Order: sequence, then structure tokens, then C-alpha cells
Amino acid sequence: MAAIVATGPALAFGFCCAAVYARARALFAEPAAKKVASIAGALGAKRVLAVFAHPDDELRVAGLLRTAKRRDHVFTALVTATRGEMGGQVPLVARQRDLAAVRTAELLKSGFALRIDEQEIWNFPDSGLDGVDLEVLVARVEAAIRTHRPDLVVTFWPESGQSGHADHMRIGRAAETAALRLAKGPAVDGYGGPRWIAYVLAPRGGIRAIGGEAGAFVAAHQPDPTHAMPGRLSTRMKGWRIHASQRYSIETAYRIPARLLYLVWRDEFYKVTELKDHN
Ligand SMILES: [Zn+2]
Repeated sequence: MAAIVATGPALAFGFCCAAVYARARALFAEPAAKKVASIAGALGAKRVLAVFAHPDDELRVAGLLRTAKRRDHVFTALVTATRGEMGGQVPLVARQRDLAAVRTAELLKSGFALRIDEQEIWNFPDSGLDGVDLEVLVARVEAAIRTHRPDLVVTFWPESGQSGHADHMRIGRAAETAALRLAKGPAVDGYGGPRWIAYVLAPRGGIRAIGGEAGAFVAAHQPDPTHAMPGRLSTRMKGWRIHASQRYSIETAYRIPARLLYLVWRDEFYKVTELKDHN
């Protein structure tokens, strides 16, 4: 009898939890985006180059990179423009003056875990990409594109940077400019530049709900995503364990445990643009 009496409140609690979860999932969805298992697979890309600003930025596209390698057997390369020396440590794991070296090591381990084939870590100033001549950055990205010969370049949307960070927007602009120039220019040594660029985006409802002023800025400056793909909770959590000096940055930024956030922010969202028609 006691069990029957307890069933009513338990059921009500269950329904309540399910309703809250469904509402949270809806906030972190972009229903108009085409659902695919793999961005590289859906496009038929054979070589992917990701261009980002900081150690740990690659976790924002961990699903894309990991799936490209494991499922589609695609060549993957990662460029990170800074060594993250200005980052806050959460938790404190090293002398602040050693942070660039520590974060460089974390980034190399993260790249290895994602089975990245080639990795470049540059030494532009963290939180100072805005002060670097855009042409200097573009030239560096152009050289990386020529080296790795991707057909797909992955980067930040230049108007929002997925988080509103100025470095994200700057490297997104540099990657876009470089990719476009090579795609529109003449082929050199049989390589005619990338065919697609994929900009990683945030779910607008979700980032507006948890991201404060920066989240509102991001949501207002993002385009509609064209594609969504699974982000993989275990890959992201493993990535944050590897980035030990940044392990609790999700909790610090959004006041939500990373594991809980990823239960509702499950997908990665992209705007994919074709830079040239190769047919
Ligand atoms: Zn970053």
C-alpha cells in the first residue's frame, strides 16, 4: 500500500523532470539545421583543417574532428594560433608564467586523443589577436592551408566567434579570408584551395539563456546553421580532463557542470558554405 501511495508523487516528479529536460533540449536545438552523422562524411571531404585561436577551442568541434577520422578515415589537421598564456586556470595547476608551456602540452595531448594527423601551434599573443595585422594572420593561415591542402576548413564565425571572444572572431576572419583567396585563385601544384568552409555555431536559444551579455551578442550575430551533428559527451569530457588547467572552465563560464550542460547541448552546429564549385 505504501508503495502505491508513493507512486503518485514519484510519477509527478518524473513527468516534471522529463518536461524540464525536454524544454532544455529544445533551447539547445536548431531544428532547421540538417541532421547528419558527420560533416566531413556528408560533404564527402577528404582532408579537414581546423583553424582556431586557443588551446581547448578544438573541443568545440571535437565531434566533427573525431568522426571525420574514426568514421570517414579523413586526414585531419589542427592549427591553434596562440598558446593560451592569458587564460585563467580552473583549477590552478601551474605557475602562471609556465601556463603557455602547460597549455601547449595539453593541446598536443588533446590533438593526439582526437587522432589529429598534423598539428601546428603558433605563438601569436593570447587575447591579443585583435592587435595583430590581419594580413599577417591571413598569410599564416594561407601557408597552413597550402601545407595541409584541405578541401574543408573549419573555424569560427567571424561575427560572433561562438562565444563572443575577440580572438575567436579574428581567427575566424583570417581563416575565411585565406580560404576564399585560395579557393578563388589559380591552382598551385595541383591544389586549388578548399571547397568548403564550416563555421562552428552555438545554439542560439541556449547561449542566450546561459551566456549573459556575451551569449546575447553571439545569438544576435550568428547566421542560421545549415548542419547539426552529434557532439559526443565522452569525447568532450575526456578533452576537458586533458585540458587540466581549464577543466572547470564550463562551470566557471556558465555556472553549470559540463556534464549536465552537454546532456542538453548535445549537437555541434555549423554553417557550411561552398567556396567554389569543383564539378
Ligand atoms: Zn578560445
